[in-house]
Amino acid sequence: MTKLIQNINEMKQTIKTLKQQNKKIGFVPTMGYLHKGHLSLVECSKKKNDITVVSIFVNPTQFGENEDFDKYPRDLERDLKLCEEAGVDYVFAPKVYEIYPEGYSTYVIMETLTDKLCGKYRPGHFKGVLTVVNKLFNIVQPDNAYFGEKDYQQLIIIKKMVEDLNMNVNVVGCPIIREEDGLAMSSRNKYLSEEERKSALSLSKALFLAKELFEKGETNPQKIKEEMRKLILSYPLVKEIQYIEIVDPKTLEEKQKVEKGDRVLLAVFVGDTRLIDNIEL
Ligand code: AMP
Repeated sequence: MTKLIQNINEMKQTIKTLKQQNKKIGFVPTMGYLHKGHLSLVECSKKKNDITVVSIFVNPTQFGENEDFDKYPRDLERDLKLCEEAGVDYVFAPKVYEIYPEGYSTYVIMETLTDKLCGKYRPGHFKGVLTVVNKLFNIVQPDNAYFGEKDYQQLIIIKKMVEDLNMNVNVVGCPIIREEDGLAMSSRNKYLSEEERKSALSLSKALFLAKELFEKGETNPQKIKEEMRKLILSYPLVKEIQYIEIVDPKTLEEKQKVEKGDRVLLAVFVGDTRLIDNIEL
């Protein structure tokens, strides 16, 4: 049975009891509207831990003023059912006022890594992410926490926070789960119309093309990016390419010459929906 907990103190009490029983705790933080990408993280957690906790919290502090906080898809009942089927032990779904009570004023700021890629276009986003993940780690006190490579920059930044702040949690990155045609699964795919869904394929197609070009011997990032750009813009409902970058997988610095293990990342607007994806070369 999956138990739903919405109150911070109850979650903490539950964790305390589990720790006294020497249970190993795996944690999957999410914003809900769960899909197979999220559930793959649950599967990873269940293999290595006695107890799996999934949090469902649409975190207001990581959304910009003109972003989709209000219309972000939410369906707790559906999520609970999926968690039940996946064998999740606890769903922690706090209310916004529990996490950010009136007068809340403490935030986690990272001085590197957060200004690049998505951070450049979403100022304050990673401050919100790091703050909420830090708070969730303090509440759930997991031994292992699972994050998707889908949000690659987020994964790297969280690993760095844990290292910088000597936090007692092991951060595990898990591979991107895709639809059969290649589209990376995302709660935001729900926003796409039938026609937009077709143009959304441009992201994964471009990433697969980058990998193919690299494997054929191309090491000039400009050439790879130019081919990707052409392919993406050939899809009718692509409104804007926000960025395409080929970076070092740890420092996220742009590469002058592409090497094996580098990461290609991109953000593209299909209609009004901002989609991100990435691939390892
Ligand atoms: P979100 O609910 O979008 O904040 O995502 C919660 C967690 O699930 C994050 O660690 C994401 O990186 C991960 N995630 C989202 N989509 C996917 C996917 N398609 N494959 C793997 N992990 C994913």
